[in-house]
Amino acid sequence: MAGKSVLIDVSKCIGCRGCQVACKQWNELPAEKTKNRGTYQNPPDLSGMTYTVVRFKELSVGGEMKWNFFKDQCRHCVDPPCKMTADDEAPGAIVVDDNGCVVYTDKTKQLKDLNEACPWDIPRWSDVKSEWVKCTFCHDRVANGLKPACVKACPTGTLTFGDRDKIMALAQKRLQDLGKSYPNAQLMDLEDVRWIYLLHEAEDRFEMGLLREVSKVKYGMKKVFSPMAPVWLTAGFLGMLFKRREEGMRREKENVEVS
Ligand code: SF4
Ligand code: SF4
Repeated sequence: MAGKSVLIDVSKCIGCRGCQVACKQWNELPAEKTKNRGTYQNPPDLSGMTYTVVRFKELSVGGEMKWNFFKDQCRHCVDPPCKMTADDEAPGAIVVDDNGCVVYTDKTKQLKDLNEACPWDIPRWSDVKSEWVKCTFCHDRVANGLKPACVKACPTGTLTFGDRDKIMALAQKRLQDLGKSYPNAQLMDLEDVRWIYLLHEAEDRFEMGLLREVSKVKYGMKKVFSPMAPVWLTAGFLGMLFKRREEGMRREKENVEVS
C-alpha cells in the first residue's frame, strides 16, 4: 500500500517527552498549566493544545518499581472512522492526503461529538480555533520530504518513519526480534492504522487512555447499513478467505522448513 507510516517501538521509549515538545513547537501550541497529580505524566491528557501525550504507567515488578510509556496520538487510520462520520455531516471536513495523513480542515467546526467516532478518543475541541484538532502527521513537513517533528526529535529510535511497506516489514522483523525476550510482544492494528504500535508487554501493562469499543461497533454497523454494504461484505469475505489461504501456505512452508 502506498503512503507513509510510523513504527512506535515502545520498548525503546524512555518517557523524555521530547516528542511532545517538538509537536508543540512545530504546531505553535502553548504549554498547559497543570497540577501535581502524583504522577510524572504531564499534561494529563490530549487537548486542544496538546496533540500528542506520553502516558506513564507505573508498575511493580518483583518488588521494584518500573514505568512503561505510551506515546498517544492519532493513528492515521487507513480507513478512518472519523472521516466516515464527517463525510455524512460535513463533506470535505476531513481529508486524507497522498501520503495517507488524515487531515482536519476548519470545516470540522460544523461537526458535533466528533471524538465519539474515534475508537481511540483522539480528536479534541480547540476553544482557540473553534474546531476539532489532533495530530496532523506533520503533513506539511511530510509533503516536503521531511519526517514528522516528533520522529525527528526522538533520541532513542522509538519512532521510525518511512514508506508504509517498508515500515510494515520492519514492524514484523522487530516483533520477531523482541519476541525472543518478550513473549507477549505484539503489533497493534498493523493493517488498519499508519501509526503502528509495537508493544513489548501485554496491553494492560500500558496506560492507553480511553479505548472506545462502542465506536468500533458503531463504525462496523455503519458499514453494514451503508449503500456500500455488499462491497464491504464481499471484500471482508474474500479477505477472510485470502488470510486463511495465506495462513495455510505459511504453515505448510514452516512444516517444510522444519522437516
Ligand atoms: S485515530 Fe481517530 S482521529 Fe485518528 S484517523 Fe483514526 S478515527 Fe480519526
Ligand atoms: S521522544 Fe521518543 S523516547 Fe522520548 S518520550 Fe517521545 S517517543 Fe519516548
